[in-house]
Amino acid sequence: MSELSKDNVADAFGRPLRSLRLSVTDRCNLRCSYCMPEQDYVWLPREDVLTLEDMATLTGYFTDLGVDRVRLTGGEPLLRRGLSGLIRLLRQNPLIKDIALTTNGILLADYAEEFYEAGLHRITVSLDTLRPERFHQLTRRDEHERVLEGIASIARAGFTGLKLDTVAIRGFNDDELVDLIEFGKQVQAEVRFIEYMDVGGANQWSQEKVLSRAAMLAMLTVHYGTIEPLPERGAAPAQRFVLSDGTTFGIIPSTTMPFCATCDRSRVTADGMWYRCLYATTGTDLRKSLRAGASNEEMRSLIRAGWEGRRDRGAEERKALERDGLRVGGLIGIEKLRADPHLEMHARGG
Ligand code: SAM
Ligand code: SF4
Ligand code: SF4
Repeated sequence: MSELSKDNVADAFGRPLRSLRLSVTDRCNLRCSYCMPEQDYVWLPREDVLTLEDMATLTGYFTDLGVDRVRLTGGEPLLRRGLSGLIRLLRQNPLIKDIALTTNGILLADYAEEFYEAGLHRITVSLDTLRPERFHQLTRRDEHERVLEGIASIARAGFTGLKLDTVAIRGFNDDELVDLIEFGKQVQAEVRFIEYMDVGGANQWSQEKVLSRAAMLAMLTVHYGTIEPLPERGAAPAQRFVLSDGTTFGIIPSTTMPFCATCDRSRVTADGMWYRCLYATTGTDLRKSLRAGASNEEMRSLIRAGWEGRRDRGAEERKALERDGLRVGGLIGIEKLRADPHLEMHARGG
């Protein structure tokens, strides 16, 4: 379909379909306690995982219906062999304006140049701490140095607009907010603090561990003085702020100030399950239709109908449960996660 015939759809609340998070693998080389706290996992069957060509084809149906931003994620996306081939395929789609990557950074030094050549636009690295021993405590792996090397390789490869995403957890890294912003200045990155969410395997989540947007701003104001908010950018989840020296940073208040009202995101797992919300427990099996030989128009109709029926606002619903005192800890227990690995954050891509 050409730009002229692009068919923009809207969901039941009038929200457009604009952004797609493509999880290219559910495997990971870290075990972050807020995402993969267990010893063992049920993985998506290898034979179900889509080829990179199929992923590009599926993405094409989404772009025909309004998507113009794609984020590659996982699990750890750099564990997927041939990822730069997927970036090249996506670059051939003229409807995609922005291709971004979220990675834990461990393998980045090996691939940054290749990704730049392939046409990747932007990189976000997840970095929760600057302290190696704390990194080990969080991730159960000794890879902090490689993450820092990965971050250093990004600018060398030619990328600009680096973002560092930090999950802010009370009692874990709440004493590092300033250090992370200062580190961001050194590596020309904008730091974004994400509120800890109860999603998938976050079964160590509790309300007490959530460092709220308000608490973060209060802590940062003590150190930096006046902090000014920057104007909102459409459906972007991060609220951005500027310090008096011009440094900018973001807060993604997913838990205390959900942004469901403007949410334009879809998620496709590595085996082609499509979820209309990070918290959705049911999705649409696009792989099945693709492998059954559905025509392009049938695939587009399936996605159009799915989006038009979308009423998801998962984070707002969770917040309402809290307000009414109907919630204590994590909402989805380990048994349910084992029965359906698609519910895991590392399958769904964050
Ligand atoms: N492995 C890659 C990485 O860590 O960047 C990409 C996938 S990871 C699931 C995507 C993002 O989700 C990461 O920034 C991670 O910190 C975030 N995330 C995972 N679990 C989370 C949770 N319980 N609350 C908030 N953010 C979470
Ligand atoms: Fe950590 Fe990302 Fe792996 Fe989850 S998928 S364990 S957040 S590195
Ligand atoms: Fe979008 Fe669901 Fe997140 Fe709300 S909870 S912002 S609807 S993905």
